[in-house]
Amino acid sequence: MRLVGIDLGGTAIKAGAADEHGAILARRSIPTGLAEGADAVLGRMAALARELGAERALGVGSPGLIDHERGVVLECPNLKALEDVPLRDELARRLGLPNSAVRLENDANAAAVGEGWLGAGRSHRDLLLVTLGTGVGGGLILDGRLYAGAGGMAGEIGHVCIDPEGPWCGCGRRGCVEQYASATAARRRAREQGLPAEQPGDLELLASLARAGAGPERDLLLAVGRDLGRGLAAAVTLLDLRCFVVGGGFGAALDVLAPGIQAGIEERSYGRRLADVRILPAELGADAGWIGAARLAPR
Ligand SMILES: [Zn+2]
Repeated sequence: MRLVGIDLGGTAIKAGAADEHGAILARRSIPTGLAEGADAVLGRMAALARELGAERALGVGSPGLIDHERGVVLECPNLKALEDVPLRDELARRLGLPNSAVRLENDANAAAVGEGWLGAGRSHRDLLLVTLGTGVGGGLILDGRLYAGAGGMAGEIGHVCIDPEGPWCGCGRRGCVEQYASATAARRRAREQGLPAEQPGDLELLASLARAGAGPERDLLLAVGRDLGRGLAAAVTLLDLRCFVVGGGFGAALDVLAPGIQAGIEERSYGRRLADVRILPAELGADAGWIGAARLAPR
């Protein structure tokens, strides 16, 4: 059976097809072209799905808050043009499929499904995918299945509070993990310590200096990791979760973040042996979203 998935992003639409055993059959990436409006984007998505052979079903991952009942993206700053558009039903109509043959899911959740199926989490029944980018995203797999929660918001590890007096977060509350461990936050913290963090490649430089030896760069990434670990400790304590898969652009620094992450988990989680906790680098990179979406396509 051919599984087709689309990962809708603010700048690119990534898509592909896999068989049910996980063999990749095709992959594509095209510009989203948001400026042309929702209709044009939907047209491109439908054409891509058709080209990839979505004859019976389609899975779609999108950033933002998803209304699963209506198949609509409710709130997404990066995809304003597609907010409140009947994305699922419009794609189904254009593909000549029933609405029930198209599944719309949050992109971080889709990526978690991808990593759990074919990526770093494939030998784990339970895992949390943590994406470190502009923000901190998350997706939760429990007992081999996506756990999205009652409103689709489960797994939002980036908005777990680690300090009620901490910096204000974009979500309107204070001290969220995202304000300490996203790429954006790491840059801010570097600047506060007088380390260079203005240019796009500066976090990579910081990570390579941290790898090279003890110094302020290593201390900073240790502190960033520890704050992330303090947030992950909530998942360890609440769910007895043992596997964390870390992806996103800043996830490339996981090797130097990991000692801090472990320290944070150890410090804040209740009654667990750290030796049982695995912190793994994501393996699928930019393919995780469409692969997970394909896996979620209704069958
Ligand atoms: Zn927040």
